[in-house]
Amino acid sequence: MSASDNMIPAPAVRSKPLIIRHLPYFIGAAVLVALAAGMQFDGYILNILLQATTFSIAVFGLSVVLGLCGQINLAQAAFFGFGAYAVGLGTADLHLNFWLCLVGACAITLVAGAFLGMSTLRLGGHYLAMVTISFQQIVTLVMINAVGVTHGPDGVANIRRPELFQSSQSYLAFCVAMLAIVGYLVWHLPDTKLGRAMRAVRDNELAAGVNGIDVFRTKVYAFAVCAVLGGLAGGLFAGGFAYVSPDQFSFAESIQFLTMSLLGGVASPIGSVIGTGLLILIPEWLRFLKSVPGLYLAIYGLSVILIIRFMPDGIWGFVSDAFTRWRAHTKAPPVAGALQLRPATTGGDIVLEVTGLSKHFGGLKAVDGVDIAVKRGSVHALIGPNGSGKTTTLNVLSGLYKATSGKIVLDGTDITNMAPHQRTAAGLGRTFQNIRLFRSMTALENVEIGAERPGNTMIGKGDDALTERAMEALTFVGLGSRANELISSFSYGHQRLIEIARALASNPTLLLLDEPAAGLNSTEKLELHELLKRIAAQGLTILIIDHDMTLVSEAAQHITVLNFGRRIADGESMAVLRHPDVVSAYLGSE
Ligand code: ADP
Ligand code: MG
Repeated sequence: MSASDNMIPAPAVRSKPLIIRHLPYFIGAAVLVALAAGMQFDGYILNILLQATTFSIAVFGLSVVLGLCGQINLAQAAFFGFGAYAVGLGTADLHLNFWLCLVGACAITLVAGAFLGMSTLRLGGHYLAMVTISFQQIVTLVMINAVGVTHGPDGVANIRRPELFQSSQSYLAFCVAMLAIVGYLVWHLPDTKLGRAMRAVRDNELAAGVNGIDVFRTKVYAFAVCAVLGGLAGGLFAGGFAYVSPDQFSFAESIQFLTMSLLGGVASPIGSVIGTGLLILIPEWLRFLKSVPGLYLAIYGLSVILIIRFMPDGIWGFVSDAFTRWRAHTKAPPVAGALQLRPATTGGDIVLEVTGLSKHFGGLKAVDGVDIAVKRGSVHALIGPNGSGKTTTLNVLSGLYKATSGKIVLDGTDITNMAPHQRTAAGLGRTFQNIRLFRSMTALENVEIGAERPGNTMIGKGDDALTERAMEALTFVGLGSRANELISSFSYGHQRLIEIARALASNPTLLLLDEPAAGLNSTEKLELHELLKRIAAQGLTILIIDHDMTLVSEAAQHITVLNFGRRIADGESMAVLRHPDVVSAYLGSE
């Protein structure tokens, strides 16, 4: 074997430099800034534009926390208010420099957002909604009642702008430039490591965890980013209007931000701008109706409901979905090389050593004192009748359940008390009995998440290397040509293969497969069998749960049998399958 065989292959996927690819965006942004600076708007139009620009930045925040990460925040107006009051009180009362106050606004909201996030994000859905509503109400009460500091209901007047942008027109141009910059960052966030983690958490928290993502931390980051964008937007808003009061930052405004986000399309900053623009403009368009009481609100409400009813992903979601589907068929995925699995070999002969493992659910002993030793480079099967504790064992191994007792050592490292993402970093890869893919992503993006696991020595630096590795894994399972398609367009059997590819891309030391053959037809089972052989041929250690005896007896050298949570047999395959206890557990004692 030559030395070059050990090197990571040069990426076949090479993209143009970032600057060149994104040049059209910056030219477009520059034109908008020039227009904002140069057009002579009257005061009324100027105000509407200023409002739309600053609100859009706040709505960007929701597109991060809700659109990307799937967490609700019903207090965005509170963060917006934090920013507005920081700049308002800072420049008007304390006579501080505008820029200093704007940075302060971001810092305060960052801390507030991170704090609120850390204290609540372990809670799910409804609780998170309730806590953010309460936070919003508290902030409003403080704004109204802490008169000594906030001036109470009177609000803060005489807020100053920076020297550089004294005229409203130039200040608008400045805000449009900020919108373009923040919009650029938010737009590209999904393609960064953090952005991919957020999308994975939104699509499937469990799968995100076992693919090496720290779920809680990712959520806190998303929440803090959202809060900072709210604070920045609020600070800009205060400078623009020179006056702020508590009613501008109430719960109703938080709901308005949310509606803007959902209406335009929560998944993208373009949607934020569309939604914000529309919700600010629709009332202006409908002003002629204001003479008839109630009619205006009815039409306004109806249009919002209709748009959301027929475009559940918002206006931009509707457009971009069509685009993704079209692109999947027109844009050929890059050609990939052969996947190399190089499982780590630091420990001894035994890759996984499980001793006395138990998992009790109340009185039910789902797993009860089980020992398993998986030899390096072997295929080891874990079998047993339905409900015998196989999946539970796997869930305890990968950290989704905490062991009641026992010890798990992976390649010399005690992983018994690690979080799922830490076990993945330590070299564990797995698939699920009921498929858990990231459903809003393409096959390639799913596998990229796996490839990105911390400690994956098989990928070089940068996005191209990541794509390269993911393409190799997808090609290895036979789906390379369909890499750009969304998960929903794959058959059940192929979705299983994508899950396997996702685990393989991470170059695990040990691969855990939970009933990979379940739900497959006979052709697909044969293909799977052949795939397992190719994986094993590269020396990867596999612990496989299966029902299919043919598969097990042909593929596995070693079998552990569970029944009622206890190990009833263990050893070389043929001997175990003939063991009388195993025969009776499967076929009944008769
Ligand atoms: P297998 O994968 O071998 O079919 P499982 O590990 O899924 O079996 O289940 C073993 C036993 O544990 C079953 O009786 C099941 O009902 C129970 N069980 C599994 N998960 C839970 C849970 N989260 N809470 C309570 N009981 C559970
Ligand atoms: Mg199971």
